[in-house]
Amino acid sequence: MDIRLSAEDQAFRQMVRDWLESAMTPELRDGARKRTSLWQDIETSMAWQRILHEKGWAAPDWPEEHGGTGWGIIQRYIFAQECVRAETPGLIPMSLKMCGPMLIGHGTEAQKAYYLPRILSGEDIWCQGYSEPGAGSDLASLKTMAVGDGDDYVVNGTKIWTSYAQHANMMFALVRTSTGGKQQEGISFLLIDMASPGITVKPIINLAGAHELNQVFFDDVRVPKANRVGPENGGWTVAKYLLEFERFGMGSIEINRTLEKAETLARMTPAGGATLADDPAFAAKLSQLRTANMALEATEQRVMASLSAGGPPGAASSFVNILGAETSQRADELGVEVCGYFAAPWQPEALEPGVNREPVGPELAVPLLPSCLSNRMRTIAGGSSEIQRNIVAKAILGL
Ligand SMILES: Cc1cc2nc3c(=O)[nH]c(=O)nc-3n(C[C@H](O)[C@H](O)[C@H](O)COP(=O)(O)OP(=O)(O)OC[C@H]3O[C@@H](n4cnc5c(N)ncnc54)[C@H](O)[C@@H]3O)c2cc1C
Repeated sequence: MDIRLSAEDQAFRQMVRDWLESAMTPELRDGARKRTSLWQDIETSMAWQRILHEKGWAAPDWPEEHGGTGWGIIQRYIFAQECVRAETPGLIPMSLKMCGPMLIGHGTEAQKAYYLPRILSGEDIWCQGYSEPGAGSDLASLKTMAVGDGDDYVVNGTKIWTSYAQHANMMFALVRTSTGGKQQEGISFLLIDMASPGITVKPIINLAGAHELNQVFFDDVRVPKANRVGPENGGWTVAKYLLEFERFGMGSIEINRTLEKAETLARMTPAGGATLADDPAFAAKLSQLRTANMALEATEQRVMASLSAGGPPGAASSFVNILGAETSQRADELGVEVCGYFAAPWQPEALEPGVNREPVGPELAVPLLPSCLSNRMRTIAGGSSEIQRNIVAKAILGL
């Protein structure tokens, strides 16, 4: 896809750049630079979301009538590029990227009117209750039961790997409402208030010592039937629709940034009378990754074209997910390779927002190894790369 920027687009880029420059406080910049995982720390993330919301830019991908910006595909792409360039903080994807588009596509008018403004403002923070022990890739085998009782369902069971459940006040969840017939046909989609009696959130600490994941237990939790999205036993369609949004991202922009950092560090690293950046082996690796990333970028733009025509991302989002996850892992590895010995020091305090301590080695190098380790999850979360390949085989290649 040929994207040549018109004078109007160039002016738009400058306008966005100027605004981001003025909106990004030193605290936001510090928090964003120290992010080492998909999840930005909640304080920085919500502070940034509130600023974007005030400007009307919290959800550029949503339709204008629901609080989107009304920007076209090129403007949205420029905005995403400028955010990465300005190193803006990450936003919580479960709210703006997943729950919002899902409600716009499948919610009732009442659900849209109530929840969408609260998602935009950050009043509601959502988590995703899909996976269970024994139901990850084989999601349709989930066992959390919801039994009808008057105007409510009574929910019992457990969800696992629930990212940021400790911060969320709402969960969108898949529950079983029927055990007969095909597994997929007995699933419903519920919106659950995390303050409901009977919900317990237990932390799961990851390898880096961070608390991002949780297991959530439901013990006779009452959920109003009005909080169901889609028909009873028709939740699988809603779940798959949401996953298309979860799996699609414009990762190429961030990968470009990682590669730029690797190149900058390479220019700072002496090697045989010159710098590592002049080394042909390094240059070849960098070029290979840049080429792979250009292929990813072109695919992302194709999916964005479908989005701007009003459609969902479609099965191509799985393709984007595989390419994006694997290229970003390779880019991370190159970054760590360039850091050399400076990748080794364990210095978590240097990554805490607001902490001003001299790091061991170049500042740019500090987040690279933690990011690289954390990003191993990119080929698992949201559906592993093997599962995404199965989707591409069936839905795109017709195998
Ligand atoms: C950091 C992180 C955050 C997450 N956040 C959330 C969240 O917020 N909410 C949520 O609901 N879930 C979340 N998940 C869970 C995630 O969706 C699952 O981990 C993922 O779907 C894989 O399921 P599993 O872990 O049960 O692995 P399994 O399904 O047990 O898979 C194990 C291995 O077998 C392979 N495999 C399985 N089936 C097939 C097959 N048919 N063909 C080929 N290979 C196969 C898989 O690719 C994988 O390599 C998160 C996961 C991670 C790592």
